Amino acid sequence: MPALDFACIECGEKFFEIVNSSNRDKVVCPKCGSKEIKQVFEGKCGSGGTTKGGGCSSGSCGGCSGCH
Ligand SMILES: [Zn+2]
Repeated sequence: MPALDFACIECGEKFFEIVNSSNRDKVVCPKCGSKEIKQVFEGKCGSGGTTKGGGCSSGSCGGCSGCH
């Protein structure tokens, strides 16, 4: 089960959460409880995006600050 990196849009907290298909929409910020979070791919996209065999080029890195 992958642990995905998230960042809270509200307070800027960065955290990771083990996510599966059933709880992906229930992830909230552990600091402020906000649901306004985005998934980040820190250190992957910016360094070539090869970790998942796609990275930026797959178009799934909308939340990555290193992509744009
Ligand atoms: Zn927060």
